[in-house]
Amino acid sequence: MFIINMTRYITIASGKGGVGKTTLVTNLGAALNQFGKNVIVLDGNISTPNVSVLLGMTKLPITLHDVLAGKANLKQAIYMHPSGFKVIPAGLSIHHSKLKIKRELAEAINEIAGEADFIIIDCAAGLGNEAKQAMYAGDELILITTPEIHAVTDALKAHEFSKDNGIKPMGVVINRVTGKDWEMTKNNVEEFMELPVISMIPEDENVKRAIAKKKPVVYLYPKTKASKEIKRLAAKLIGEDYRSLENPSFIERLMTIFGLN
Ligand code: ADP
Ligand code: MG
Repeated sequence: MFIINMTRYITIASGKGGVGKTTLVTNLGAALNQFGKNVIVLDGNISTPNVSVLLGMTKLPITLHDVLAGKANLKQAIYMHPSGFKVIPAGLSIHHSKLKIKRELAEAINEIAGEADFIIIDCAAGLGNEAKQAMYAGDELILITTPEIHAVTDALKAHEFSKDNGIKPMGVVINRVTGKDWEMTKNNVEEFMELPVISMIPEDENVKRAIAKKKPVVYLYPKTKASKEIKRLAAKLIGEDYRSLENPSFIERLMTIFGLN
């Protein structure tokens, strides 16, 4: 029988480190899940993984490292986060880094085709082999930067890499926006990157508060300004109106309860 695989593989990359990739990956996963999607968040940052740390899931027996070392299959490395989405962690210990990698991520990830509506892939900083592997693993790519020239320059490099490899990014997310006059504007970034800006996530202390509590900010502080913007982006990815997803009508709520939509 011919089965259509509807899983969307989306990689979040940046070039520069520390601009918010892992924060976006975990929160986009949580937001898509809040909107009823089946989501797997995968930590493609093999050498310095952070996804499981941000989600408070650090003691897991089988990780992506075991899979890439040929010791387990990817389905064995899927864990449920208490908020309802699934996670494929990478190994945190230095011993994991010593495991001999025998498989490529882009190949291993086919094992879970059809297991979720969305697979969101976190990416290492830079443009080394590890980051390239994570970008190859996604069918879609979102670039994230802060509104500073050096971060945008690195994101441009990631864009150039993706173009050379036939991957077209759907757009750029500008994170930690304050609106101060030294920041690059949406127009500046669009001109520089030759890509649309699909989201501008504000600087928000609650992001840090949520990280300290090891929970996604969209889950812990759903009404804070960063959460609202991340949910708006999640709705955009689904192709739906954010407001109607946030405030479903009485009929829609009933249909959800009875599994009719
Ligand atoms: P990367 O994965 O790109 O290295 P992280 O997601 O780990 O970046 O984010 C780096 C740090 O930036 C976080 O630990 C958090 O303190 C901060 N951060 C990210 N996004 C925001 C935001 N919207 N508002 C405030 N702080 C943020
Ligand atoms: Mg990270």
